[in-house]
Amino acid sequence: MKAIRLATVWLAGCSGCHMSLLNLHHGLLEILERCELVYSPLMDVKEYPEGVDIALVEGAVANEDNRAMAQLIRQRTRIVISLGDCAVNGNVSALRNPAGLAATLERSYGDSFHGAGLTRLEQRVLPLHQVIAVDAYIPGCPPDSGLIQQELERALILR
Ligand code: SF4
Repeated sequence: MKAIRLATVWLAGCSGCHMSLLNLHHGLLEILERCELVYSPLMDVKEYPEGVDIALVEGAVANEDNRAMAQLIRQRTRIVISLGDCAVNGNVSALRNPAGLAATLERSYGDSFHGAGLTRLEQRVLPLHQVIAVDAYIPGCPPDSGLIQQELERALILR
């Protein structure tokens, strides 16, 4: 039987959601008996592959690299799951929204910020579903490991 192709992605988040994923311990090993992990910050693969069955996406969309990655994930993935509150509603990553980008950069860097060579920041940090269609949500900061397992099990059945 063909293994289910699983990806995990880290956009604008703190990696705490991935720590919760690792906290599944044996549960993660059981998942990986049925899945092939094809892309993740936990491994050294540079390009998001074609034909992914399930993607867990941590973090909000805060810059143009995040946006391009989100769109690539959507094109190449059957089931996209928002993992954690930053992906679900912006959460910590969106704390700069009320003040606005210009004021946040001014407050953080004064006039020393030039942005040369850096990815362009979005004017507003957005939850994932405001950039691409999302199929399921796992809330929490960080999300509960049991909930991650439950949603992954459900996606394994649905995919
Ligand atoms: S939801 Fe919480 S744990 Fe996950 S990336 Fe955001 S701040 Fe970190």
